[in-house]
This record gives sequence, structure tokens and C-alpha cells, in this order.
Amino acid sequence: MNPFAYLRADTAAAAVKQVSSEARAAFLAGGTTLLDLMKLNVEAPAVLVDINAVPLTKIEVAETGVRVGALVSNTDLAYHETIRQRYPVLSEATLSGASPQLRNMASTGGNLMQRTRCYYFRDGVSPCNKRQPGSGCAALEGFNRIHAVLGTSDQCIATHPSDLCVALVALDAVVKTRGPKGERAIPIAEFHLLPGATPERETALEHGEMITAVELPNLPFAARSHYLKVRDRASYEFALASAAVALEIKDGVIRAARLALGGVATKPWRAFEAEKVLIGAKPAEAAYSAAAKEALKDAKARKFNAFKIELARRTLVRALTTVGGMT
Ligand code: SF4
Repeated sequence: MNPFAYLRADTAAAAVKQVSSEARAAFLAGGTTLLDLMKLNVEAPAVLVDINAVPLTKIEVAETGVRVGALVSNTDLAYHETIRQRYPVLSEATLSGASPQLRNMASTGGNLMQRTRCYYFRDGVSPCNKRQPGSGCAALEGFNRIHAVLGTSDQCIATHPSDLCVALVALDAVVKTRGPKGERAIPIAEFHLLPGATPERETALEHGEMITAVELPNLPFAARSHYLKVRDRASYEFALASAAVALEIKDGVIRAARLALGGVATKPWRAFEAEKVLIGAKPAEAAYSAAAKEALKDAKARKFNAFKIELARRTLVRALTTVGGMT
């Protein structure tokens, strides 16, 4: 491991100042991604600014929605009574990620900053445009079973690893930040970036900009929602395909729908067009299958990951059936 300086901040303003004044400084919250990557020599910050003393650990419930402080642990988020009742998709997604020990340490803001599990990125030596821009992408012609089929580019096909973020995308959450230029509110759909020609840029954050909260808008029909995750083993594993689903059904007809996919895309993937397929339809197999087909219509397979397209379709249909039932 490379030597680094360790600082503590007890206000957001102090943390932003410390990180923004050093090009190779990074925020440290739960450390469940960053410290792993430092041990692997994939990340080598010169300064770590520990923000765990910054008071951002509250979940505040209001008429207009819920504000989740960036340092709320994944465990506290998943088991919060309001989250379980009003946004079950978020509770389920959070509990499907990692292990209990990791969820106790991992923060809400940190979950948004998770980095890919692409083996070539994490091995520290393979050509990888994300780790070392311009070096190539070993996954394109390599073993790409876990890689993305949606949102890819000829520079990078890595999947986004988060479960929690898939639920946030379905819920239209807003990311609140504080940076050297002041405060911002970033819609979650714009927070994560497609790889395009710059896969090393993963989020809309500027250097020194810190996540302070995630806001969940009031969405009454999210009480009828579900997260389904399919993976190689039952626990402590990343998704091969996952679906976050919420439906509003009145008089036997789907009035509103939220669909998002995980494990198959380079960012948490909202399926807007597939949602439109469901509006006005009866909650039944035909509509669910049509929506799933639409959601995957632009999918592009590589040598070892073609199975994910059918798997994602079936995952979405099953999640929709769980939430909407069959007429
Ligand atoms: Fe790197 Fe992306 Fe290629 Fe993986 S898929 S090797 S992260 S450029």
C-alpha cells in the first residue's frame, strides 16, 4: 500500500475544504470500497479525509418525502420503519447487498460511489480504460460473463455493482451535495455517467464535492414495490440481473409504473420506455413480457454474457408478477 495522510473533519465545510485543496485527496466514510481498492493498489489517494464525525446520520421524514443523511448506514436505512413501509423496494435492495457486517459499515452516500467489480479493473495490471485511461479494455475480448449488456461503449463494458442505487433510480431520488462552488441537487438518473469515451469519469461529482443526503420524493404507490436480485449464490454476491419495480394499479389497470434494472448495465438503469408499455394495461403476463422485451431491446451481448439478456427479462417479469399479480 502507498503511504497517505489521514485527516478528520467534523463539518461538511471543513471536509470539502480539505479534499478540494489537494488533487489526490478523497473522502473516507465506511471505507468498504475505498480501502479495498487501496489494498489492491487500484486507488492511491495521497490524503484521506475521514468524514464520519460530520453530523449526517439522520433519516428525516416529512410530508414531501424522506431525507436520508449521507452517513446513514445501509443497515439503518434498510430497517427504518418508514423506508420499509413506504419504499419496500429500497429496503429490499439494500438488504440484498453485501453482508450484515459490511452493511453496518457502508454508508448511503458511499453506496452511490461504489466502483465496478470488473476483474480486470480490480487486478491492477490488465489493460483497463477506467483505471488507466487509454490503456484498452481487457474485458471486451476477455472473460466477460459478469459484464454489461446495456449502456456499454467500445471503451468499457463494466457493470455498476450497486443494488441500493437501482432502487433509488426507480424512486427518482435526488442527490444533495456540497462542494467548493456551493450546494447542488442532482437527480439520481444524472448522477452516474455512461462510460462513453471517458469511463474513468463515473459520476457527476466534481473533485471535492461531497454527498450530504439522498432525498426520496413522496411516491405513495412505492408502497407497492419490490426488488428482485438474481445471483450466482444466495448471499454476499453481486447481481447477474436485478429489477426494482413499483406499480400503481387502479380498477384493474396499471396507472403508473417504475422499472429499473441492475447487474446488466454500466449504470443503475431506468427503463423509461418499458414503463410506458405498462401504462393502461391490465396487470398480466402479456403486459409484463412486453415491458421486459422493451427494456432489453437495445441490449448488446459479448461472448460470455448473452445469457444476461434473457435472465434480465425473466427477472423483470417475475418482479412485476410479484408486485402486480395476474388478472
Ligand atoms: Fe476496465 Fe471497463 Fe474494460 Fe473492465 S470493462 S477492463 S473496468 S475498461
